[in-house]
Amino acid sequence: MSASDRGELLRAPLFHTPRNPFLVDRALECHWDGGLLIRDGRVAAAGDFGTTRTANPEATVVDLRGGFLLPGLIDTHTHFPQLRVLGGLGRSLLDWLEACALPEEARMSGEAYAGETARAFVHGLVSHGTTTALVFGAHFAAATAALFEAGRASGLRIASGLVMSDRRLRPELHQTPESAYRDSSDLIRCFHGRGRLLYAVTPRFAFSASEAMLEVCQTLRREHAGLRFQTHINENPQEIADVAKLFPWATDYLAVYERFGLGGRGAVMAHNVHPTEAEIGRLAASGTAVSHCPCSNAALGSGIFALQRHVKAGVRVALGTDVGGGTGFGMLKEALQAYLLQRVVSEGPKLNAAQLLYLATRAGAEALGLEEDIGDFQSGKAADIVYIRPPAKTPLAAVLERTETPEQALAAIFTLAGAECIQQVRVEGSVVYE
Ligand SMILES: [Zn+2]
Repeated sequence: MSASDRGELLRAPLFHTPRNPFLVDRALECHWDGGLLIRDGRVAAAGDFGTTRTANPEATVVDLRGGFLLPGLIDTHTHFPQLRVLGGLGRSLLDWLEACALPEEARMSGEAYAGETARAFVHGLVSHGTTTALVFGAHFAAATAALFEAGRASGLRIASGLVMSDRRLRPELHQTPESAYRDSSDLIRCFHGRGRLLYAVTPRFAFSASEAMLEVCQTLRREHAGLRFQTHINENPQEIADVAKLFPWATDYLAVYERFGLGGRGAVMAHNVHPTEAEIGRLAASGTAVSHCPCSNAALGSGIFALQRHVKAGVRVALGTDVGGGTGFGMLKEALQAYLLQRVVSEGPKLNAAQLLYLATRAGAEALGLEEDIGDFQSGKAADIVYIRPPAKTPLAAVLERTETPEQALAAIFTLAGAECIQQVRVEGSVVYE
């Protein structure tokens, strides 16, 4: 038997949410003395160490006690060309785009600069424990290809696409519908379904896309099976008012995308901070996911996301960091921010640790249509793992010495664990970062 056949048995407390904790009680599975058996890159078993060990005496034990095993984190909304505009505080969406984001995005026309940015961006993901990300590419094909190449080299799961716009940004960011079609088709042929890469059709938002451009998006989705889709929706009142003027025939923002068939499973719309009840109902009915980006919503003053209304209506909600409108790459921090913002809503939900874990892992897998393969530690899934271990003398290490229940430990991890606690990251069992 080869080492891979025998398997590797990781010993540490482990947490995962194979069920949706917004719908069922006791959705959190925790094994305090846990054993996670990896064989051929897949999870072969996740349970108590003793039981798993007895059933698999041939497996090589890796003792990771002192840290915690979580499923790899899944970021469902972020922009690689905005890495260097993180920290642009004090503005609202449209003003921030003009002053901070778009000038930097225009610099992605330089291939060397775009390549450097893509590599630094992917490092930002993995060093924060993110194993899968749905990423806005650039407005330039070569820069978007650079992101895919960096993703391939990193071993992460990356879904991305050329950002499509033909009006209202700045001229150097605009394509024609014809050139966007040609460039997107080429990128799809090169990268979609290659290894861990997926292509996502990516109109920036209805604000900057003509009907002809949205029609190109629809055509691309018809021509290629399994593409994902991503865009923005209902982020800021001024944006929403402008979209209403641009598409006078549309009853609301979502109706613009619906006219072109741009929704459904595998489609992720970021923000939705100011939706109507009708839009929420239609998002639920179509299976379109919403990426909630609470750090960005607070930083840009966009508003507080109506999490309760979405969940009650049955909309799939996952989390996104929204680099660079957000405040960094940490999905643990993003989940904490979701908790904090919901706490300040009167009568808002008090999110528990299981719900935070679900939002940062399995919910992202469901949003991307990847829940059969990733998102938790059920047997047969890819062994995408983040190993969190606080360095000695950190506040988190001190807190964990005193926690009495697994839920307390998990809540402390969400509250206090930064990138310094990400000790190892694996995708399909292989170490991609440590
Ligand atoms: Zn965004």
